[in-house]
Amino acid sequence: MASIFGHSIVAFTITKVLDNNQSRLLILLAIISAILPDLDVITFNFGIPYEHPFGHRGFTHSILFALIWSVLITSVLGRSKKLLWFSVIFLSTLFHGILDAMTSGGRGVGFFIPFDNDRFFFPFREIIVSPLGVDRFFSDWGFQVILSELKYIFLPCFIIFVFITMVKKGANHKK
Ligand SMILES: [Zn+2]
Repeated sequence: MASIFGHSIVAFTITKVLDNNQSRLLILLAIISAILPDLDVITFNFGIPYEHPFGHRGFTHSILFALIWSVLITSVLGRSKKLLWFSVIFLSTLFHGILDAMTSGGRGVGFFIPFDNDRFFFPFREIIVSPLGVDRFFSDWGFQVILSELKYIFLPCFIIFVFITMVKKGANHKK
């Protein structure tokens, strides 16, 4: 995985880009959705191997899971803005797998589970994979993770965030 900070900042940026009203609940749910797929690490405790469709980076990282989760959240909480909620939650969940597929380690991401159990990486894999345990995060490895995420996740998100804020301010001025 990328770190939970990397996943969260992407979800935050997606919400900022798509939601003009900046619903706090939606931002919170987007961040939860971006972290949620890694709950699958508990499957290691049940002896489910990495490569299994329900193993780490398996079903919870798939496009189908993002779809089911976003439809569920949208139908329960989306009220009048269903398309917006669906888009934010779907993209926030899916981008978890997309970031993972750009990391330097682990196995690939099962985007197409249950239809295809293959695991995928993108050709670009400069994000250093984050350790699974918190204790190991506070190490030289953790520091390298932070550096790579600053460069390849935080910086692009920050540029998008500044750009979109300026565009929206400009649009408000014209009103
Ligand atoms: Zn993951």
